[in-house]
Amino acid sequence: MAVYIYRCAEHGTTEESRPIGTAAAAVPCPVCGSSALRCYTAPRLSLGSSTRRALIDATERTRDEPGVVSAPPPRSGGRADMRRNPALRRLPRP
Ligand SMILES: [Zn+2]
Repeated sequence: MAVYIYRCAEHGTTEESRPIGTAAAAVPCPVCGSSALRCYTAPRLSLGSSTRRALIDATERTRDEPGVVSAPPPRSGGRADMRRNPALRRLPRP
């Protein structure tokens, strides 16, 4: 299976998984049903690790689907962080 990317003029890109060589020139947009034309992209062939590939995919996904949080991140350890990171000890002190 290969992932083909199609673009609707109003709703952006959508992906379709199909066997290699069976990509249609256009598919109906899943949102509005109008014709979404195929976008030619670089093949996603990689010899890298699956962890690296997952990170790249997650980073690319944030363009269209940014992560939404409900609370700020937990506070860092303050003094404990300074002891763990030697670079912070070199910062000027007031
Ligand atoms: Zn659309």
